[in-house]
This record gives sequence, C-alpha cells and structure tokens, in this order.
Amino acid sequence: MWVYLTILFAVVAVVVQVVWMRRHRRLGQLVGRLRREKETIEAALHDQRGEADHRQSALFDSMVEGVLIVDARNRILMVNASFRRLFNLDGDVTGKSIMETLRLHELQELVERLPAVGRITEFELQTLLPRSQTLQVNAVGLTGAAGRGSAMLVFHDVSRIKQLENMRKDFVANVSHELRTPLSMIKGYVETLLDGAKESPEITAKFLKTIENHADRLTFLIEDLLTISSLESGQVTMNMQPLELAPLVERVLDELRDRASSRSIGVVADITPDLTVTVDGGRIQQVLFNLIDNGIKYGRAGGRIVVAARATGQGAVEVSVADDGPGIPAEAAERVFERFYRVDKARSREQGGTGLGLAIVKHIVQAHGGEVWVDSTPGKGAIFFFTLKPGSLVA
Ligand code: ADP
Repeated sequence: MWVYLTILFAVVAVVVQVVWMRRHRRLGQLVGRLRREKETIEAALHDQRGEADHRQSALFDSMVEGVLIVDARNRILMVNASFRRLFNLDGDVTGKSIMETLRLHELQELVERLPAVGRITEFELQTLLPRSQTLQVNAVGLTGAAGRGSAMLVFHDVSRIKQLENMRKDFVANVSHELRTPLSMIKGYVETLLDGAKESPEITAKFLKTIENHADRLTFLIEDLLTISSLESGQVTMNMQPLELAPLVERVLDELRDRASSRSIGVVADITPDLTVTVDGGRIQQVLFNLIDNGIKYGRAGGRIVVAARATGQGAVEVSVADDGPGIPAEAAERVFERFYRVDKARSREQGGTGLGLAIVKHIVQAHGGEVWVDSTPGKGAIFFFTLKPGSLVA
C-alpha cells in the first residue's frame, strides 16, 4: 500500500514539475518577448523624439525672426540661427545669462518683469552693437511651478521699416514746406495788389511776374515729384535701345541755349560723333538737362560748361558735365543726390530749384545700371560724372 502511495506521489510530483517547468519556460519566453517589444517601442520613441527635436530645431533655424528661450533664472536655454545673426554670436551660449551674452540691461530688466501668465508682452529694443538696429520683441513667460518658469522671446528686425517710415515723414514734411513757401508768397502778393498796389501799373506788372515765377516753381515741383514717385515705385520700365550720344546732347543744348546766354555762359559739347550708348533716350535727355541746367543755375556768370563723353575701356561710357562755378564742398558731395538737399538754399530757390533734380538724375542713371558722382574743388567748379552701357547700332 505504502509503495503504491509513494509511486503515486512521485508520479504526481513529476507531472506537477513538468507542468510547472513548461509554464515557467513559457512565462520566460513571454517575459523575453515583452522585453524585446518594450525595447523596440523605446527605440522607436527615441527615434521619433530625435526626429521631433531635429524638426523643431530645423524649424527654429529657418525662421526669419530671432528666438531666445531662457529659464526661470534668465539663463539661456536655446537660441536659433537668426538670433545668432542679429547679435553676431559665436560659440555655445547655453547656460549663460542674458547680460553676460548680450550686455543689454534693458532686455534683462524686461525679461525679469515678464508676467508668469502666458500673456504676450511687446516692446521695441534699440541696439547699437553689433550694429544700430531696431528690434520688435514679443516675449511670453511660460508658467512654472512657482511663478514664471522659462520665457520665450521672438525678435523681429524692423530697422528697415523704421528707416522707411522716417524717410516718408521727412519727405512729407519737405514737400509741405516746399509747397507752402511759394503759395504763401503768391497769397502775399495777391493781397498787396488787392489792398491798392494794383493802382500802379508798374507795381502790378512786377508783382504779377513774381506771382508767375512762384506758380512756375510750384509746377516744376509737382512735375519733379511725379517723376520721382514714378521712378521710386519701381514700375517704370526703361525703353532701352542703342542710340548715338552726340545728337542726344545736342537736343538738350538747343533747349538750354537761351537760358545759358541769359547768364552769358558758353556751353560746349566734346563728344566723339559715333559714340553709342544703350539707353532710354528720353530719360537720359532728362539727366543731361538737369545737370547742364544746374551748371547754368549755379555756374559762374560769363563762365563755361563742357559736356564730354568717352569710352572707359572697362565696358562703359563715362559722360561728364563740368562748370567753372563755386563748386561743391566735399562734405556735400554725396548729399547733393538726396531729395531736397541743397548746398545754398537761397540760391536754389531764387533759381526756381526744386531740390529734386539730382535725386532724379541718380534714379535714372541707376535704373540704367550706371553710377553717378561729383568731383569738385570748391571755388574752381564742379564736374558731374555718370556712366552708361555702350551700345552698337545695327547698320
Ligand atoms: P535744385 O533744384 O536745388 O538745383 P538739385 O537736386 O538739382 O536741386 O541740386 C541739389 C543742390 O546741389 C543744389 O541746390 C545746389 O546747392 C547743389 N548743386 C547742384 N549742381 C551744382 C553745381 N553745378 N554747382 C554747385 N552746386 C550745385
């Protein structure tokens, strides 16, 4: 009996062991499989995270705006490529403070005052280093466990917009001033005539002549303003064609001969007869007109103006207009091409100048791909130069 029981017990024990071992093996296999799957999922998640990080930095670096992310202690966590460019930063700046990296007190203070709540604060920042620029900054504090956590700042370079805005304001102020002066003169003379001066035919004739001059000045100003605004709109196309230069110059000289002789100024052209340029004829006539007219207005009474042209040998034709008047001081040599800049305001106004003639010259020459400049020895005259592309006439 005991023997049977012992055998039975042994058999049961063996069976239980076998079952347990099989199950254990299967459990082991299962655990192994789960571990492998876990590793695969982790690797995939890691790849995805790496890809997401990569995508995020590619996105930040492709932004035109500069991005700066700082932690709660205002230490740099991240900057993008545009930010580096704006502040001319080299090397790793991670972990450094705003002050240490950018030396901008104003920015440091603004970041310190950023509210913890996700409200976007907008402010303007002027920097002188690495260059003078105006930056519009949008900053947002990212809420942390206790108060503000990190903060993100986006920098937009608005220097060009500011510059254009200032130019626009100056332009409007200048135009208003230019219009107001002749208008108030006209009004003043008309009032004096109405107050009784018209009783004298001589005074009336003199005043009417002055009124006509001021009205002419207004007309010239409006014509020049229209020309400059159409040139600046960039919508003007130059009707370029190969033309002989000498006849263009002759046409302008014919127009200005009377004005020149009214100041006893002799005007001569010294141009090779077959010199050809590729130009918009009408526009280049206007350039020549403005330069020769200035020579007559500002040159020496009884003096001489020479219009010359030569091929430079560097694939350009150089045209010059020289006078023997008072010339232009060195510090004004570049500025005379700015709108409304005048060396001698009184003389310009007296001569009916609009202050736009040389700005128009510069626009037209540049639209032809050329350059314009002035050389002058004060007291000995001024020579205005401009370059054009040569052209060849088809026979
Ligand atoms: P404006 O209508 O006043 O002549 P411009 O743009 O043609 O305007 O010229 C700008 C200024 O440059 C003039 O007001 C004058 O002071 C100076 N300028 C131009 N040409 C000459 C010149 N040939 N000699 C001396 N000064 C000149």
